[in-house]
Amino acid sequence: MPLFKYRCRDCGEEFEELVSLANSNNVECPHCDSRHTEKLVSKFATIGSSSSGTSAGSCGSGRRGFT
Ligand SMILES: [Zn+2]
Repeated sequence: MPLFKYRCRDCGEEFEELVSLANSNNVECPHCDSRHTEKLVSKFATIGSSSSGTSAGSCGSGRRGFT
């Protein structure tokens, strides 16, 4: 399944979601359970699975809000 990036219009949370194409326009915000989410333009999936040697760690995605 493709990875899409979404932003919640209610709380402003940005999150990435693995969704099928059938559900890509019907995604709940994991933060506030709102369905007012919009799909952002995603260039490629950034899950931190860089299997090709060095990677510049300026992207900093992967874990969010775990403090
Ligand atoms: Zn939200």
